[in-house]
Amino acid sequence: MSVVDEARVQDAASLLASLVSIPSMNPAFMADGSGGESGLADFVEAQLQGLGMETQQHEVLPGRRNVFGRLRVPNSKGLLLFECHMDTVGIDTWGPEALEPRVEGTTLHGRGSCDAKGCLAGMILAIRELAKQPAELEYDIGLLGVVDEEYRFRGIVGFIEQGIDVTAAVIGEPTKLELVTATKGAVRFTLQTKGRPAHSSQPDKGNNAIYQMVDVIHHLRETLDPRYAARSHPLVGYPTWAVGIIHGGHAANVIPDTCEAVVDRRIIPGETSEGSIREFEEAMAQLAASKPDMHPSVSSRDLADWPLDTAEDEAIVQAAMRALRANDLPPEPQGVTYGTDASKLQVKSGVPCIVYGPGDIGYAHTDHERIDLTEVVQSADVYAQIAREFGA
Ligand SMILES: [Zn+2]
Repeated sequence: MSVVDEARVQDAASLLASLVSIPSMNPAFMADGSGGESGLADFVEAQLQGLGMETQQHEVLPGRRNVFGRLRVPNSKGLLLFECHMDTVGIDTWGPEALEPRVEGTTLHGRGSCDAKGCLAGMILAIRELAKQPAELEYDIGLLGVVDEEYRFRGIVGFIEQGIDVTAAVIGEPTKLELVTATKGAVRFTLQTKGRPAHSSQPDKGNNAIYQMVDVIHHLRETLDPRYAARSHPLVGYPTWAVGIIHGGHAANVIPDTCEAVVDRRIIPGETSEGSIREFEEAMAQLAASKPDMHPSVSSRDLADWPLDTAEDEAIVQAAMRALRANDLPPEPQGVTYGTDASKLQVKSGVPCIVYGPGDIGYAHTDHERIDLTEVVQSADVYAQIAREFGA
């Protein structure tokens, strides 16, 4: 790892401390529904205006605004977008000190330091450098801070609906300075079994929906798990599923007539949400064929996210690989199992995306969230180099 200049670490510390100390909790994580990203959007906009960027704020939800800045370059061929979410999860289990950034050595502690304000700081530091010599760039540079990534991704969706033309995008998330080009998607759905109630003193007179669900889950694990294990993507691995919620029955002395199990199915590039639900339905039909009293079904479904798989020969991936080599960092594309804004931007508007940033996702959403400031400085160098390499 390269030695990072002390003054630059101080610079990153001071910018990131400002970002962390401005609360931007997603209201979905607040018991009273307070919170929001507006204060941070105003701060970021002032930063970008100070760098000579054209800026705008766009209200996506009442009182919740994305901020977008554009650095114009001569003879621009398009727009290279750097995107990062501004919202964080809540602080209730951590307490108010979560918003009082604390620096120990080169580590900065605080809510959002890692997920994802460290990336936002790295992007702003990169644009500070790029703004000094815009003539060396082929593409305008955009910086987009969005709301609501931690809940329903409505910030990036709001930006897509604005119809601003984007050539390629770098999405900031803590990837430990590794280049991420593939992520898993997710689909959630509910399995349902229906039985027949009876007094529990005579269980044979009923048809126990919970027992059916036990059989269904057992059968699905035996049928689907080996199939999934054999279906691997080189960067994100194999698909998985898990039952996270189960409901059934009304009283201890009544044979339950319904049971529901909520499934979270992680999909890999090449799979679809409809296809994975169909596999469940087919496996359940196979089981039910031998059991006349059993009629399991999928009772509701909700696509949570698409998978991401950006081809290695895309210009943005190639630019990032060159930028990483130039900074003595490993250039090989990696995959991660969590979702990001990248999949929405790529699937809904066809923008090739990569995910890149400082920090370890393992600290995200925890009460010991932190980031190594030398990584923030390194990310700034990589972001800036990606901008110089893109289209070159
Ligand atoms: Zn994040």
